[in-house]
Amino acid sequence: MLADLQQLARAAEQQEICGILFGREGRVSARRAAKNVAEDPYRHFEIDPRALIDAERGERDGGEPILGFYHSHPTGAVRPSIIDAGSAAPDGRLWLIINGQDAAAWQAVPDGEIYGRFDAIPLDCSVAKGQTAAE
Ligand SMILES: [Zn+2]
Repeated sequence: MLADLQQLARAAEQQEICGILFGREGRVSARRAAKNVAEDPYRHFEIDPRALIDAERGERDGGEPILGFYHSHPTGAVRPSIIDAGSAAPDGRLWLIINGQDAAAWQAVPDGEIYGRFDAIPLDCSVAKGQTAAE
């Protein structure tokens, strides 16, 4: 649930946490924490490419599809940053952004209202109990 993620976000202090969301038709069925490999994890996030490759392989092998990604904004609003917009592919995936108190969901689209890349979508995800990834 979101409360779990917010707990993790708080526990990470000022570093951004991130991970992959799995599910179908806009419903999150599972999430998997990934290592934030950004050079400056206090200001940015970059999902460990190995975690992405694993998730994509799992999807190809008939596992749960990748629905999107989550990350935290430890010191800011749960709205995509311009850097988020620059790093998001317009692939329709869900971007869940959390901080210690709030959460919001966005969809990465070709012509979004936020920085041309994101549209706000209702936060209606039953984020499943977390599986903790290898840290
Ligand atoms: Zn961000």
